[in-house]
Amino acid sequence: MPRPQKFRRVTHTPGFTYFKPQGIPMPLLDEVVLTIDEFEALRLADLQALSHEEAATKMKISRATFGRIIEKARQTLVDAIVNGKAIRIEGGNYRMGKMFEFQCKSCNRSWKFSAAAAEQKDCPRCKQRGWSR
Ligand SMILES: [Zn+2]
Repeated sequence: MPRPQKFRRVTHTPGFTYFKPQGIPMPLLDEVVLTIDEFEALRLADLQALSHEEAATKMKISRATFGRIIEKARQTLVDAIVNGKAIRIEGGNYRMGKMFEFQCKSCNRSWKFSAAAAEQKDCPRCKQRGWSR
């Protein structure tokens, strides 16, 4: 039996979950999977520019675990970019807080986020302010 892993806390789900290189038919594409916890690690460390220490605290994991997650996440992305593979974002070992669902009045996209990310009210597609529903 695999060792049970501690859940990583995630506050954002991805607004976009599939990326593919242009001009390559799907059947010919290799695919890599970026898990939701890896996505969150990249978002915190590389987009929000938090230190590993701060990001690990937000995800409620050790700094060493965070280091392993982000290392794997970067390798996965580089593999896709260098070798022309599609990227699917799904799965992983994570748990979210209480969820809120928002919907954009401009483009109708809906998305969810947890209470710990209450600042995230802008539509991931068109950047208009979203509305609770
Ligand atoms: Zn929108």
